[in-house]
Amino acid sequence: MKNHTARKLGKEIRKDFPIYPRTQSLGAGVDADSADPAGFCYLDSASTSLKSTAVIDALRGYYEKYSTNVHRAAYPLAERATDAYEDARAAIGRFIGASRPEEIIFTRGATEAFNLIAVSYAGHFLREGDGILLSEMEHHANLIPWHALARTKNLRLFFLPFSAETGELEWDADNFVRFLKERKIKLVSLTCVSNVLGTINPIAAIAEKAHEAGAIIAVDGAQAVPHLPVDVQALGADFFAFSGHKMLGPTGIGVLYGRYDLLARMPPYQLGSDMIQDVYLDRSTYRDPPARFEAGTPHIAGAIGLGAAVKYLSGLGMEQVHEHEKKVLQYAMEKFSAISGVRILGTKDAEKRSGVLSFVMEGVHPHDVGSFCADEGVMIRVGDHCARPLHQKLKIPASCRMSVSVYNDMDDVERLAGALIKMQGVFNGTLNPKP
Ligand code: PMP
Repeated sequence: MKNHTARKLGKEIRKDFPIYPRTQSLGAGVDADSADPAGFCYLDSASTSLKSTAVIDALRGYYEKYSTNVHRAAYPLAERATDAYEDARAAIGRFIGASRPEEIIFTRGATEAFNLIAVSYAGHFLREGDGILLSEMEHHANLIPWHALARTKNLRLFFLPFSAETGELEWDADNFVRFLKERKIKLVSLTCVSNVLGTINPIAAIAEKAHEAGAIIAVDGAQAVPHLPVDVQALGADFFAFSGHKMLGPTGIGVLYGRYDLLARMPPYQLGSDMIQDVYLDRSTYRDPPARFEAGTPHIAGAIGLGAAVKYLSGLGMEQVHEHEKKVLQYAMEKFSAISGVRILGTKDAEKRSGVLSFVMEGVHPHDVGSFCADEGVMIRVGDHCARPLHQKLKIPASCRMSVSVYNDMDDVERLAGALIKMQGVFNGTLNPKP
């Protein structure tokens, strides 16, 4: 493992994120034009993270200095763009432990990555009556593409349950291979980390059994890659999808990692320029992966920006990122448990959780919690977090979610806890609501 000169995370690295001191109009209690970075309390990184100067500079560098197309022209500026684009691919591949850069396909995000798997892999290789195993805690991105495919191809969908108590997947490791075989499950597609419960799922153990049963496994890494050291080979993932914008990178760019031998057998997902080998008026042949899956001009700046994000995160050290965020979540769990009426969703064990802490407040609708927090300058997410079946299972319409990243620390937790306590006072009538 790399030896990092450990930088202190939290407040100390906020200077790397220019949004902090510049933010204005944060609502009551926070001065507009405040030069005080502490006034800005962003706890919604699971939705999208803030962007570091390293990423913004990489984007600006491309647009200002070499904004040419990739893989086409022979002049030096275009070679520079191609080199930067491919360098980003290689850096991202190393970051997640891919065996070669060609296993990294640039997509618009995790959502597009799942559509690609559904259309090009499952749409091509699964047969009528085959099964796909998902779970009850999936984000819609790993649900809706399978609904559509199951309808058109007569596939059967199965769902691993999770415990409403602990937020952990309930699966029977001893009988799992038989379970998969009996249901003709050819594809398992699960989230690595739940975007609502924060549960870190036992992907490596499940992948091993899936392979034993002759199935492959696709993993939703959208909430894992920004927070944990990820090694797709150690996990045994055949596909692994994630989004740049949740890991300090730009929006509109994401990644589908695929095992090369699988990608090499898959047909293209979209068709057009740059993915073709030979073209005649009436027929064409396709290039090898990853080019086969990147039709047309790609999001060049986005890929380069994501490369910069990965290098920035590598510089911090993902072990350190994970440890830091774990402590912040642990602190939040302690703080929120002490506030009457707050019910934390999912495990109370910080070792089993990453990135997010969702909760409900007795007698107060999550949207009211969100608005109250916003008035206090604290930004959290409320709603179903694109995981409606998960909320249906918990019999709640919505929840409040605090989520953290490298720039958060205990003070953010204090701010949120303070807002919740104040809100309780208002709703219980012990404090006067603001006029
Ligand atoms: N999966 C999970 C677990 C997510 O949290 C998200 C984003 N909320 C997605 C998939 C979809 O990501 P995107 O919208 O960037 O495609």
